[in-house]
Amino acid sequence: MPELPEVETTVRGLARVLDGQRIARVELRRADLRRAMPEGLGQRLTGARITGLRRRAKYGLIDTDRGDTLVFHLGMSGRWRVDPSEIEKHDHVVIETDDGRRVALNDPRRFGSLDLVRTDRLVDWPAIAALGPEPLEIEAGELRQRLAGRNAPIKALLLDQRVVAGLGNIYVCEALHRSGIHPGRAGGSISLKRLERLATAIRDVLAEAIAAGGSTLRDFASPDGELGYFSKTFAVYGREGAACACGGRVKRIVQGGRSTFFCPRCQR
Ligand code: ZN
Repeated sequence: MPELPEVETTVRGLARVLDGQRIARVELRRADLRRAMPEGLGQRLTGARITGLRRRAKYGLIDTDRGDTLVFHLGMSGRWRVDPSEIEKHDHVVIETDDGRRVALNDPRRFGSLDLVRTDRLVDWPAIAALGPEPLEIEAGELRQRLAGRNAPIKALLLDQRVVAGLGNIYVCEALHRSGIHPGRAGGSISLKRLERLATAIRDVLAEAIAAGGSTLRDFASPDGELGYFSKTFAVYGREGAACACGGRVKRIVQGGRSTFFCPRCQR
């Protein structure tokens, strides 16, 4: 599943191809992904100039000079293919620019989504209006405010999009490990000093993953260049039984139906 760093890398990769370009053609090869495609999508995008690309949580935002923003979510298996030599079965939407570049949204499992939202109403669009602060900019004070009085485990609270937006299971495990916080600790019981370490860890693990993923952009101009996934190395995630740097062993537990990887020796 693409996590926030992959979405950020995807947005940066798409920006190199699309930013400032006029959309010459839109081909919709299905009527729906996770839900129906927006009405008149092709018509509303064709001829529009792309004025910028951004990300909010795990949503990619493509702004146009018509006051519309194309909002994409990669779901479980979505990715954008840049200048594919041929269109494949799971390329559901193809966008061509005036200068002959082509990007295709490929999504075999179709849990992803595309929406067209008025740019000036984006902040009120329900999926985005509900989101907490961006994890790349999260501050300890914001965490404290959102965790105050909460007895739920910090692990579960950090996965709640209203507490922090777009932080997935992998990076929650990694950030808790890096800040030495036990995943079962009640969110509201963590001191400000430890929340400062946590906020720093959240920003750092994501920034490092984005930097590592950026290297995949080297190939973006090649035929069939794909944006959206890259291999990563983690300190605890997916490493049950492995040695931690502290001398302890990584343990896996299940919290709220999701696996949590942590080190019982250095996470308190
Ligand atoms: Zn450890």
